[in-house]
Amino acid sequence: MTSTYPTRRPTDASHLDDREPELPRELLNLPWVDVHNHAHTLSWGDRERYALSGCRAMVMVASGYHWTPYKPVRPEDVRFLWDDAINRRAAIERNHFFETGLGLGIHTGVRVEDPDELLDAMDEYCGLDEVVAVGETGVTPSQHASAWGVDEQRAVVGAQMELADAHGLPVILHTPNRSGESGRPYRPGMGTPGYEKNPGPGREPVIDAENPALEAVRIDVEAMRDAGLDEERVVASHADPNNLAYLMEHTDCYLSFTVGHSWLIGVTAADVADAIDEYGPDRIMVDTDCANVLRTDPFALKRAILELWRYGIDEDAIRKVVLENPREVFDLAGSAPVPG
Ligand SMILES: [Zn+2]
Repeated sequence: MTSTYPTRRPTDASHLDDREPELPRELLNLPWVDVHNHAHTLSWGDRERYALSGCRAMVMVASGYHWTPYKPVRPEDVRFLWDDAINRRAAIERNHFFETGLGLGIHTGVRVEDPDELLDAMDEYCGLDEVVAVGETGVTPSQHASAWGVDEQRAVVGAQMELADAHGLPVILHTPNRSGESGRPYRPGMGTPGYEKNPGPGREPVIDAENPALEAVRIDVEAMRDAGLDEERVVASHADPNNLAYLMEHTDCYLSFTVGHSWLIGVTAADVADAIDEYGPDRIMVDTDCANVLRTDPFALKRAILELWRYGIDEDAIRKVVLENPREVFDLAGSAPVPG
């Protein structure tokens, strides 16, 4: 190639050729929806990071034992989590402009005493305009502080699915990941640095199966069918290579890949790209699951958008998984201008 540059000798600019890809400038401004995070537990600065990187809407999930100080957990402890999110939601929107919907649920990561009392109360909460989803919930193989038998867990998950069905709400399923084994363990009692969870109160697993994480998802799917819930109203969050084929081939659920703590669960934009290649973008979403108890990254979803394109996914498919699918299921970001 003949250089027309006035540089003293040829530079890289003289060696560029026609294979340079056409860059997807529109992705820089593509609005996106985070369908599962705990942003109300983050700092103001973290929530600003969502706004600065183009978040158009999010589902803030007020469910999880991490934030209830008392163990075992009582119904009023979970109610506090729901009420706290309801209390702060409008101020968060006003500060950062993105739309916020709430996910309210009973997480099974720790046993809740008298869950029926909570389920009764939940019925009324589900009628609120700001509640856009039930969850996160789903059978978990082992609990913190107080074990919860599989049958009881399944009943609580199923009852929440029935409530979701009655209120026309989607369900965010917490599907357990197979934890990525690192080569060398930490000292006993250290837990996992980056995840504020005391290792001491961890209980023995209640699911005895070769693949407990997948078995938990199978039980959730049974509960979903028993509840008569439309499968397209269920979003299995924490999709991973362990549950992808089962959920795609044996259900009509959506799958959401959690990319906000890849260091912990090993799921990255590459997994999302592989799933889109294999199954198409129609039932795929991406979420961050950012929370204050975890080393998480509010920029993760924006990074994943750019990374998906680098991995060969086209702009239309990216827009589908980060904006259009969430909009369809959660009825958020309705008036977002869609570039392209
Ligand atoms: Zn979560």
